[in-house]
Amino acid sequence: MTQTNLIKPMLETLYPVIDYGKGVYLYDKTGKEYLDASSGAITANIGHGVEEIIEAMHEQAKRVSFVYRSQFTSEAAENLAKKIAELSIGDLNWSFFVNSGSEATETAMKIAIQYWQEKGIYTKNKVLSRWMSYHGITLGALSMSGHTGRRARFIPLLEDFPVIHPPYCYRCPYNREAPECGYVCAQELDTVIKRIGAEQIAAFIAEPIIGASGGAITPPKDYYKVIKEICDKNNILFIADEVMTGFGRTGPMLACEHWDIEPDIVALGKGMGAGYAPIAAALVSDRIMEPILQGSKVVMSGHTLSANPQSCAVSLAVLEYLDKNEIMKEIDEKSTYIFQRLKVLQKMFPFIGDIRGKGLMIGLEFVENQANKTPFPRSFLFTQKLIGQAEKCGLILYPAGAGIDGVNGDAILIAPPLTITIPEIDELVKRLHETFQLFTANNL
Ligand code: PLP
Repeated sequence: MTQTNLIKPMLETLYPVIDYGKGVYLYDKTGKEYLDASSGAITANIGHGVEEIIEAMHEQAKRVSFVYRSQFTSEAAENLAKKIAELSIGDLNWSFFVNSGSEATETAMKIAIQYWQEKGIYTKNKVLSRWMSYHGITLGALSMSGHTGRRARFIPLLEDFPVIHPPYCYRCPYNREAPECGYVCAQELDTVIKRIGAEQIAAFIAEPIIGASGGAITPPKDYYKVIKEICDKNNILFIADEVMTGFGRTGPMLACEHWDIEPDIVALGKGMGAGYAPIAAALVSDRIMEPILQGSKVVMSGHTLSANPQSCAVSLAVLEYLDKNEIMKEIDEKSTYIFQRLKVLQKMFPFIGDIRGKGLMIGLEFVENQANKTPFPRSFLFTQKLIGQAEKCGLILYPAGAGIDGVNGDAILIAPPLTITIPEIDELVKRLHETFQLFTANNL
């Protein structure tokens, strides 16, 4: 029978059918239990089946599920915008709500271009980005994405926005080490800006910690300081794509806080609705909104379901849940614990090359040999086989790209719901250990 990722009734599907979820666990129709160590696609940030969220959805649905954003607003949307502004750093006081991370990054890109137009500058239309990055699947977002695999089919339709190397210290393309390297991979941005011309560039976009296309690549200490200085010096806006890292995933509300940098625009998604409803946002600072408010007043973007009250009510309930249960305050402790446990596994299994990330966004990169970091041959399908083995052991892991081109390497993301408890982390590590043991016995 044909297997695909589209759904046609009665066709054998590629995936198990999930019946229900509770906390960090999912259960399929056969009764099999899975520990969701990746929160789906780093999305189910507060776990499954949380009563408070279900109640909030119900309450909002009883009042009104939909109002059109160009005719009305709703208490849910207004309250959510207020809460996000309170929790965000700097003057990110404006929210433009959309439905997916791709829409959020595209909206961010459009707002950056519009900002310069409102100031009378019409040449600044490019948004520079890095290789080994992922900003979304729609053509504008894909144009900014340095994910070679996802770009490949659509290259004639895409802009060449990825221009610089990522801060991939495990495989530094310059064979240097931070901080002695002087952040040469960040300095590249200055070189590229000189080549293209700052008058053509609206913004630079980056994921604070690279997710899907790098397996939690985390920059060294002063990397973003250098990037931000280069952006400021050249009159180029800095967009932080916090679709994966935002809403507490790495500890603070925004991962940018780890490096004390204030972006001009932020894209949020994934954890915003925690999987209970589709919602994402572009957050915009006062200083970027100022010329827009003095000029056209409206941002030239929008979708039918932007600021959908049902989704906004969910996102607000997620923030209240995180707040009430002090979830973000516990991330550091949980993170330290899980890192310690993973380091023990690294000593036992020579194919665990690198362990990286922050908070509960952790990447494992796999290699044939820890000493020379040789990647496995592509034909071996390491990540795919490992994830299959994990599923058999009742553990859900997320595949990520790795290797200097983001394709010829193997990595996974471990990013359980932020609500995971210490005993549940023990269970996660137990299942991961079992996965590695069976994988070694069957495949290596
Ligand atoms: N930006 C980042 C950093 C992401 O990780 C993703 C999705 O993985 C996106 C944008 C796109 O989000 P979505 O899949 O909701 O469109």
